[in-house]
Amino acid sequence: MIRREEPRIGAFLRVTEAEARAQAEAADHRLAAGDGAGPLTGIPVAVKDVLSVEGVETTAGSRILAGYRPPYDATAVARLRAAGAVFVGMTNCDEFAMGSSTESSGYHLTRNPHDPSRVPGGSSGGSAAAVAAGEAVLALGTDTGGSIRQPAAFCGVVGVKPTYGRVSRHGLIAFASSLDQVGPFASSVSDAALVLQAMSGLDPKDATSADRPVDLLGELELGVEGLRLGVPREYFQVEGMESGVRAAVDSALLLLERQGAELVEVSLPHTDYGLAAYYIIAPAECSSNLARFDAVRYGARDESARTLLETYLRTRRAGFGTEVRRRVMLGTYALSAGYYDAYYLKAQKVRTLIAQDFERAFEHCDAIVSATAPSVAFPIGAKVDDPVAMYLNDVLTLGGNLAGLPGVSVPCGTSEGLPVGLQVLAPQWADATALRVARAYEAARDA
Ligand code: GLN
Repeated sequence: MIRREEPRIGAFLRVTEAEARAQAEAADHRLAAGDGAGPLTGIPVAVKDVLSVEGVETTAGSRILAGYRPPYDATAVARLRAAGAVFVGMTNCDEFAMGSSTESSGYHLTRNPHDPSRVPGGSSGGSAAAVAAGEAVLALGTDTGGSIRQPAAFCGVVGVKPTYGRVSRHGLIAFASSLDQVGPFASSVSDAALVLQAMSGLDPKDATSADRPVDLLGELELGVEGLRLGVPREYFQVEGMESGVRAAVDSALLLLERQGAELVEVSLPHTDYGLAAYYIIAPAECSSNLARFDAVRYGARDESARTLLETYLRTRRAGFGTEVRRRVMLGTYALSAGYYDAYYLKAQKVRTLIAQDFERAFEHCDAIVSATAPSVAFPIGAKVDDPVAMYLNDVLTLGGNLAGLPGVSVPCGTSEGLPVGLQVLAPQWADATALRVARAYEAARDA
């Protein structure tokens, strides 16, 4: 499948065929022997290029990490390995996960399997496209502002962003540490839940990972009878909301209502400020996280430099792409003396207000439903010269990151022949509720 689809899609940066074959053989032996098989034994999983896989080149879609082979597995990867997964390769993404279209990868484009003239979304576009094209059964991504949910919506697959702290970030190449979460892509909600179950839980190597019970499968088939689903007024009025997307989501909400859910209108009054706050906080954190790429410790190095300073400057100039440089500069500016209070501190206050919006909304409902993104997959090149237009695509997802909430995107029909995603957000640690609502929708849709 990978050999057939890759020339058309370009979902992968590296296909690890030899390793995958060895892992698959080991899985066959385990299955034949009838012992030691895990829940994912023999299942092909693609990994976003930001998650360390032991011995496999992992570059975060950046030239600056070309040639870097991590000496250990990220915890999420290690746990799936222990559950029997077969890793088939590293998927393309926006450089350091910064973007919404995978067009800012330092390597190549990825095309949307539903229409190769369009983007797959981003930043985890390669993972979403790999699952949509049948190149992998499952894939891992990361979501800092929507990078699992939005590409899942654009490619017509299921994507889950867990509660912040649910999955360890150990071994994840950091973008914005207070927002990043690892999560799965799959063709169905139950497959996604299975992967999430296998990789969740406390990890002593990540101090922000939580010691919370992990039962993501128990509620899955309970349906939505008696659940209150909040419909946030502001999420249906955002800039760039396409009428076809709105119509697809409206029919999904009706279907949920027919399954016994009660739809209640809720308000998230600070929605308009989310984007601005996110685009201060995420760049601020990335400017600090990316300082470690100094040509000394990891990846590529410009050998022509004569002094240490020149080594830093030349390597970073050649190694980082435009979007990464833009964000490092923005973030450094927002954190500098004199501007810290005006920008960074202010953004943190807005972040608190947004989290409070959700807390108040969840007093009236069990989960919140909306579109995942205001548009369907856009044409390649349409937004590359307009970063703000690109950023606007995350307006419905990044609130969930600012507030640390779990969110699922599940395919809900089409607009202009392209997939639309229904987003389900739930209170912190209620990942099981978000999955349950998404599963109930999926079951009704397919009935
Ligand atoms: N598109 C958003 C950004 O560019 C979100 C990225 C992400 O979730 N990794 O920051």
